[in-house]
Amino acid sequence: MTVGRRMHELVERLYPLCRSITGDGVRETLAVLGEALDLDVHEVPTGTQVLDWTVPQEWNVRDAYVADATGNRLIDFQALNLHLVGYSVPVRGWMSFEELRPHLHTLPEQPDLVPYRTSYYSPTWGFCLSENALQALPAGPYEVVIDSSLTDGHLTYAEHVVRGQVSDEVIITCHVCHPSLANDNLAGIAVAVELAARLNNPWYTYRFIFAPGTIGAITWLARNFASIERVKHGVVLACAGDQGPLTYKKSRRGDAEIDQVVQHVLETSGRPHSIVGFSPYGYDERQYCSPGFNLGVGSLTRTPYAGYPEYHTSGDNPDFVSPDAMTDTLETLWEVVGVLDRNRTYVNQSPYGEPQLGRRGLYESLGGRSDTKQAQLAMLWVLNLSDGEHSLLDVARKSGLPFPTIADAARALHDAGLVKE
Ligand code: ZN
Repeated sequence: MTVGRRMHELVERLYPLCRSITGDGVRETLAVLGEALDLDVHEVPTGTQVLDWTVPQEWNVRDAYVADATGNRLIDFQALNLHLVGYSVPVRGWMSFEELRPHLHTLPEQPDLVPYRTSYYSPTWGFCLSENALQALPAGPYEVVIDSSLTDGHLTYAEHVVRGQVSDEVIITCHVCHPSLANDNLAGIAVAVELAARLNNPWYTYRFIFAPGTIGAITWLARNFASIERVKHGVVLACAGDQGPLTYKKSRRGDAEIDQVVQHVLETSGRPHSIVGFSPYGYDERQYCSPGFNLGVGSLTRTPYAGYPEYHTSGDNPDFVSPDAMTDTLETLWEVVGVLDRNRTYVNQSPYGEPQLGRRGLYESLGGRSDTKQAQLAMLWVLNLSDGEHSLLDVARKSGLPFPTIADAARALHDAGLVKE
């Protein structure tokens, strides 16, 4: 099976689960991811103070529907979990159309689609349905049942850590709080799972964080406050499977190493893409890049947050994401990891005139390469720019040579004692 197909199957498998910012849907999702990855699952009790927030009550749903007098379900949570407003309080009773109507949500401009709505922090209830279904509702009375519970419980999140040669960390984060929505963010989760599985003895330690949006990221930050310095780079991964070109949103710093690396990978890919500046809106980069933390964390998406008509609707289903697009996102991230892990800054130990490379066997060492000329040129560039001010990525950019060629040249020079970190 291709990696794209495997990611798409994971999206399809996770799609029906009723995730929210807390509850069993998140646990079931993490249990599925746990089949592929070693996960540390954390349960944080309701009422725990996390930065300026408090972990809310845990929400779970057994059933929810609006039925006619004969018991025929007109709106059914079992058919599509988007039909129930997230965090709806329990309801049971009979209502007229007038009583029910204020609790119904539609998208009149997109009459075939069911919207995705939540109300985490103000207790209410509601149902979402297509505008067409609303227009076709038979007259009441209606039986309205929401068999949900809001109780003191836990917020659940998970981490998967790939130990590197150094304890400095790269975080890759995905939100896991959306119910049946595929691009936002099951595709991101699927890409992260494959990326994690590929990493083998990397330079950095890679920490994958699967947490609910906002409150989950804030909880993670609160619990890792004391050791946040170890996080050197990061990517918030979302909307990873639609047909649009890749979009990278820079960290708040704007020139963090991760910003330079992703920009370089996208620019040298020769494919359409866009790079946008930071804004305090979107996904969990809002938390990681809040001014107190100001981490070097950017956000990689295809079409960005709220940028496509299917966003937060039933149109964002597994058909909306493709194996090819997810594969493209994965390969791009893989390339980013390859550059990030090998990017170093060296100092030339023989800076007065060019060192004699032939004497050190460095020309011969290139003999077998098909790109000998380019590799020689790369050595000259590395030697010239290794003044402690230029990283290998800077050398690649200034020379126009591929980063892997520059990194190979630097390794050879390092092994010959001509450059030092
Ligand atoms: Zn969303």
